[in-house]
Parts: sequence; structure tokens; C-alpha cells
Amino acid sequence: MSTLQFNPALCEKCNTVDCIMKCQYIDMDVETAKREQMKLLRGEKSEILTRCVTCYACEEYCPFHNHPFYHIVERQEALDVHPVPRPIEKSQVVMMAPKGRIEEKAVAAPVINLCYFPMLKGSIRGSIYEGASVIMGSDIFCNLMFLHFARNSTIRERLPKMMENIMHYYLKPGGVEEIICYHDECYGTYTSWAPAFGIDVPFRPVHLFDFLHRRLTELKSGITPLNLKVAYQRPCSNRLCPETEHFVDDIFALIGVERLERTYDHGQALCCGGVMEAQQLFDLAAENQEKNVNDMKASGATHAVFNCPFCFFTLMGRVSDKGMTPILMSDLCRMALGEQ
Ligand code: SF4
Ligand code: SF4
Repeated sequence: MSTLQFNPALCEKCNTVDCIMKCQYIDMDVETAKREQMKLLRGEKSEILTRCVTCYACEEYCPFHNHPFYHIVERQEALDVHPVPRPIEKSQVVMMAPKGRIEEKAVAAPVINLCYFPMLKGSIRGSIYEGASVIMGSDIFCNLMFLHFARNSTIRERLPKMMENIMHYYLKPGGVEEIICYHDECYGTYTSWAPAFGIDVPFRPVHLFDFLHRRLTELKSGITPLNLKVAYQRPCSNRLCPETEHFVDDIFALIGVERLERTYDHGQALCCGGVMEAQQLFDLAAENQEKNVNDMKASGATHAVFNCPFCFFTLMGRVSDKGMTPILMSDLCRMALGEQ
């Protein structure tokens, strides 16, 4: 069975405990954080397990890349700690399960993996996506959302088959070796979670922003600078692939957009609150959303730019109520090409 590559010796020697000290949702002094982290290493229950809201951020905060969040999920599952009420957890396991309805399709590059967001299919159009094939659905779904449900086991069980399906039904028949991951969550699955668990990925994952940047560079002569000032909502799953964050600024530079400085961006990005609502933490979700959207507004933004569809659907109403336009990064890029 795939095992998490987590080194307890690194945590034993660690004096800063950045994973917990930088956490925006667990407030502890460093001695308490160290003590609670040691409990986790001994396999004991710790308040970290019950207070974690599964924002993924400590994966980025650990300076040793020791996978503290994946370890928390391992310990939650082993100790029967359920961040989301069990009936919701069970229904999600059933609802998101593979349906076995996949059929072979002769895809051609670029292959855009829309994960399990069929409602976004209409967004894959225009010159950026010229000639693209789109794949999506329950039979190729990365399943990484089960990190929020303390279920590494579900990802372990389903992911190998999902990758096999992508290869067998799509990439091999099309002679294609890479997929463009629309959602940070899929990219994080293939470049962070799978390697952390020693699982091989049989294709080359490419982040959507890498692809958009490449295409916009090729189509540069058709770009009209948008001259917009925007707030960016960095999603939780980008914490698994922080090396891709620079593409936000690179893309904005190409399309004439300014990413305004604000409190809750970069390492301080706030969860959109959607998962907290599933966890029944309604007050915390509302408080987070209020802080986040007020911060966007105070920065002077006219638009709030999203990449994660879940963040987009969760926050679009609140963003609009404040007089800002919510927009997905991909649509913003098409707008710069005059294709809205
Ligand atoms: S996970 Fe990283 S930051 Fe946290 S205690 Fe271990 S080594 Fe330190
Ligand atoms: S996942 Fe987020 S809430 Fe949980 S311990 Fe890590 S930083 Fe804190």
C-alpha cells in the first residue's frame, strides 16, 4: 500500500513548528504547538486534529516539505476524527464515486482536464483553446477533495484507476503525453499528493496558468490591455503547488491587469468558506467570507479573479453584493483577446 513519506525526525528537531504557528485557524504558543505535534508523532489524539479546518496551508508553511497536512489527515483517519459530519461524508463518498461510464475518445493536444466541473465546459472556447480536447467526469476525478473529509484512503483507492482511465481511454489512443489541469486541485494531486504517497503519475501534468501564459504569449498581438485593478482569490489547493503562483502575476502583466496588494493574498490567503460550511462551521465561514470580501473591496478592486470553481461559486454572490465582478482567470484571459 502507498505510504506517506513523512519524516518524524524532522518534526522532533523542529523548533519553529511553522505548520501550526502560521496556521490562521489554530492559535497556540510555540511550546503548545510543539507538544501537540509530538502527540501526533506518537499516534495520540491532539487538538490539532479537531481544530484543523483542512485549509491545506501548512503543506506550504513547513520549510522542510514534510507534508504536515497529509500527516494530519492520516492521523484523523486513523483516530476516527471526522472534520465533516459523517452523513455528509458518507453521501459525498457515494456521490463522487466513479460511475464506470467512460468511453474511448481520440483526443488531441492540448487536452484540458476539467476534473468534475462539467458546468464549465462552455468556458473552453476561443483562440486560447483552439483545437483543444476536453475531458472530465467521475471516472477521471482526482478525488483530492477527500482530504477535507479525513479520507486519504479514498484517494489512495481511487486515484490509480483514475490515472489508468486517463491513459487508457484518452491519452494513449490520442498519442498525447500531457494534460492541462484546469483546477489547482488536480495539478496538486499529480505533483504533490501522489509523489508524497509514492504513487507514479503516468502523464505530464501542466497547470492551467502555465498553459494560459504560453498561449497568451503566442497570441500577444491580439491582446488589448484590460487596465483593470483586481483582487485575486488564491485557492486552498494552490498551497500544494506554490511554485505556480508566479503565473498569476505573469499572466496579469501580459493582459494589463494589476493584482492589488491586500491582506488575504499569497501566504495569508483565506479559505473561501465553502468547506467550512460543509463542516457546519457556519459562523467561521461567514466571518472568513466577510473579512475576505471586505479586504478585496478595500484594496480598490473592481474585479475578483478566481481559478478554483468552488471558490468562485461560493464567493460570487458576496463579491457581487460589494459591487465587484467575479470572474475566472480563464475568462479574464479571453476577455483580453476580445472574446467575451
Ligand atoms: S511539519 Fe514541518 S514545520 Fe511542522 S513540526 Fe514538522 S518539520 Fe516543523
Ligand atoms: S490544514 Fe490549515 S487549518 Fe489545518 S493545521 Fe494546516 S494550516 Fe491549520
